[in-house]
Amino acid sequence: MKVIDLINKSSKTLFSFELLPPLRGHNINSIYRTIDPLMEFNPSFINVTYHQEEVVYKKRENGLLEKKTIRKRPGTVAISAAIKYKYPSVEVVPHIICGGFTKEETEYALIDFHYLGIDNILALRGDAPKNQRTFTPEKNGHAYASSLVSQITDMNRGKYLDDELLNTFSTNFCVGVAGYPEKHIESPNLAYDMKYMKEKIEAGAEYIITQMFFDNRKYFDFVDACRKEGITVPIIPGLKPICTLKEINVLPQIFNIDIPDDLVKEVMKCKTNEEVFKAGIEWSIKQSRELISFGVPVLHYFSVGISENIAQIAKAVF
Ligand code: FAD
Repeated sequence: MKVIDLINKSSKTLFSFELLPPLRGHNINSIYRTIDPLMEFNPSFINVTYHQEEVVYKKRENGLLEKKTIRKRPGTVAISAAIKYKYPSVEVVPHIICGGFTKEETEYALIDFHYLGIDNILALRGDAPKNQRTFTPEKNGHAYASSLVSQITDMNRGKYLDDELLNTFSTNFCVGVAGYPEKHIESPNLAYDMKYMKEKIEAGAEYIITQMFFDNRKYFDFVDACRKEGITVPIIPGLKPICTLKEINVLPQIFNIDIPDDLVKEVMKCKTNEEVFKAGIEWSIKQSRELISFGVPVLHYFSVGISENIAQIAKAVF
């Protein structure tokens, strides 16, 4: 079933979470170990992230550096299929990105998802590779998520890249996109971001999942700003419980977000990472309860391969 239909037919807040494919060389069982403890809370859908290739330098025996292009977390398509068939009561939402894909390759990936019976996609641009300042699309690839959404919408209308194809099958994907309550890192301001957010919705996206935030006010203001812009689709808050002391410095750098002072104080009071883990759960429970009373359609948790904290939050709020 499509995510938008799940939302529309539910009168209460749904539960969902995001998984990262395991690091290359690891087993798919780590995915099942993350999912299994969360199944008792009836997740409506599970997202699977997509990771593009990155350049790494390996030191050779002669001391010179060897440049290699590798994918550290491959397997999004296969993991999505495995989840779909192992957990038939849950929808799977693979992520698809512009980075590293030509439009042809995007079409092939979408055909694979369609043949696998997957109806949902989260369409993203992807970040610039670690050693580059700006994002560069592939030659004949998409520069922004909005044009990726347009390609999927075209396939939903039976329009493939080769316009000489006859009697084509129309896919039926429900497309979600990303939103940034504290603005995207490259945007000069929130108004700029809003203009392009609207473009993604006009291209056919049916809902938004937000970047993580730790102050619900940021989410409420973002929803207001979207509604003022005429964006009426459901806006799903993305939440991540803090797990370690290090994260209060690292997360703001990676995700362009602020950590509220009260949370920083709570975390700084902790003597061990176990205490931080507990403080992260408590903060997330408070955030989740307030968001439920606000009437959010879904609470979506970024699991980063850990389910113990999300299970405790889900137990407290669902
Ligand atoms: P876009 O919507 O294309 O926006 C990117 C920037 O360009 C913004 O600053 C926007 O304002 C601007 N912009 C957009 N259109 C135009 C235009 N036409 N002209 C000028 N400027 C424009 N990354 C991954 O690699 N894999 C994942 O699986 C993944 N999952 C994610 C899940 C969620 C819920 C979120 C919030 C993010 C995820 N990301 C993932 C990160 C995401 O790829 C990055 O944040 C990326 O930098 C932007 O992606 P986007 O789809 O929001 O891009």
